[in-house]
Amino acid sequence: MSGVPVTVTRVTDLLSDFATGKVVRPGDAEWDAARRFHSGIGVPTVVIRAASVDDVRAALRYAVAERLDVMIRGGGHSDWGAVPGGLTIDLSAMNGITVDGTLVRIGGGAVWGDVARELATHDLGISSGDTASVGVGGLTLGGGIGWMVRAWGLAADQLVGAQVVTVRGEVLEVTDASHPDLLWALRGGGGNFAVVTRFDFRAHALPGVVAATFGVPDDPRPALRALRDMMGDAPRELTVTFMDVPPMDPSAPPGAAIEAIWAGADEAAARVALAPLLAVAGVTEVEFGVRSYPDVLLEMPAADPEAPMPGFIGGNTLVPDLSDAAIDALVRFRQANEMSVMFLRSLGGAYADVPQEQTAFPARHATWFAMAGAFDIPGLVDDARRAAITADWEAIEVLGAGVYGNFTTSTDPSWVSRMYAPDTLARLAVIKRAWDPANVFCRNHNVAPA
Ligand SMILES: Cc1cc2nc3c(=O)[nH]c(=O)nc-3n(C[C@H](O)[C@H](O)[C@H](O)COP(=O)(O)OP(=O)(O)OC[C@H]3O[C@@H](n4cnc5c(N)ncnc54)[C@H](O)[C@@H]3O)c2cc1C
Repeated sequence: MSGVPVTVTRVTDLLSDFATGKVVRPGDAEWDAARRFHSGIGVPTVVIRAASVDDVRAALRYAVAERLDVMIRGGGHSDWGAVPGGLTIDLSAMNGITVDGTLVRIGGGAVWGDVARELATHDLGISSGDTASVGVGGLTLGGGIGWMVRAWGLAADQLVGAQVVTVRGEVLEVTDASHPDLLWALRGGGGNFAVVTRFDFRAHALPGVVAATFGVPDDPRPALRALRDMMGDAPRELTVTFMDVPPMDPSAPPGAAIEAIWAGADEAAARVALAPLLAVAGVTEVEFGVRSYPDVLLEMPAADPEAPMPGFIGGNTLVPDLSDAAIDALVRFRQANEMSVMFLRSLGGAYADVPQEQTAFPARHATWFAMAGAFDIPGLVDDARRAAITADWEAIEVLGAGVYGNFTTSTDPSWVSRMYAPDTLARLAVIKRAWDPANVFCRNHNVAPA
């Protein structure tokens, strides 16, 4: 539907029952701010800043009447904001957080840093990602791999219910008892099915975390092999990430390092678990100590729309068996491309406890998440080089058992077949047909209605 032209002057009339939010159109003072997303500036037809469930219903009525595709904006960290045209429903004002024992209700437009700060006042935590400004919406609906993934599973694994607005305007309370298929799809199937106006999570006790950073030698392979072996039988409280990034990438400090987070404040236990890593020649302890969970979430500045980040040639994969050959290939990829990144994040533990069929998320048997890519910098990368890097990456991707869509910046619709096993995709497509048969929610890793 994205190509259908619309007359935005009729917005105010059509939204006569628009309750508390705001319509922002080209020419309005807020237009540039309203169409910003983390990695750029979009060109939607119109943005509706919703402040209530009724606003969301009115926005959907308008989108359907005008045959507009809908982009649901949670934290704005995906690249779906870059797809031109359509109606953006910005949920960022719907960001309330209420705590009732360990049940935490979070507005559909909240960001994880705010959640972590609020929960820290209750000595609670929810497994999220590693970055404060990322949205609860997009991260949870896609899965959500973070510092607590081995202790408590994915963000989606803690989702016990949701309030959604469907494209038909119904407001539903979704639980395993009321709408089991829909809740299954919300746990990893992305923003395909409805606007989630509230997420309900079961939180965990968290008095603090032990955070450690280790330096690694120029050849990181012995350290990575030791890390893999160590994590094979590490306590689930421990989650680790290897990262190696060039200076131009603001996502992490430049160079190679291993970050470790222990879910809990038991420094001695964390030291015991990490001892095999420190025994590797050249591995150095840079930081080690108890911190609060909100403090270990990173902050990554939004890209300057005048100087956006270059394209990314590479991808990610959920790896069941991190063999020596896989480690060698990942290290070779990074070292062959000066302007490239390589990340390895540990899985297993609570992530692996969840039966495969219980959520739409792929590859529960994966023990590591691997991501690597080179920046597509004009003058540095020509067509031949681009093709060679793509081939190098594809040789690594096949070592895995599925792609994690949230870390895929491509908006190419073919990616869904790399993300989901055929039976999962078929089940998602049936659920999509039930809730969004005209595919109004298509600004996502899109599941076509069956
Ligand atoms: C700097 C950075 C750090 C990251 N770190 C991590 C990490 O540690 N772990 C991890 O797993 N991922 C991480 N990601 C990836 C992140 O999970 C995805 O980019 C995710 O889509 C962002 O969600 P968002 O709500 O911020 O984005 P948005 O662009 O707002 O939304 C992303 C998608 O979700 C849909 N959506 C959002 N909110 C709702 C809602 N309430 N109801 C229905 N649909 C909705 C949107 O329509 C869109 O399709 C990171 C990304 C960046 C840029």
